[in-house]
Amino acid sequence: MCYILYTLHVCNHWVPQPQPGHGPSKERLLRICEESEAMRLGNPCPTTEHRVSSRSQGMCDSCLWKKVSK
Ligand SMILES: [Zn+2]
Ligand SMILES: [Zn+2]
Repeated sequence: MCYILYTLHVCNHWVPQPQPGHGPSKERLLRICEESEAMRLGNPCPTTEHRVSSRSQGMCDSCLWKKVSK
């Protein structure tokens, strides 16, 4: 199944991690799995798995901005 990797921050927000490369940001977030690559000629699966790949000890950017702008 194709998946999107997230960083889980202490504020409980999941922030997607773009992979390096070209194309629109939505395409850069989605990791195409091997089955999709082989069976669907590069088209992603109809369902996407959401995975936490790392945890951050800090808050996400939007929470940091909210804190700064207060
Ligand atoms: Zn897939
Ligand atoms: Zn947050």
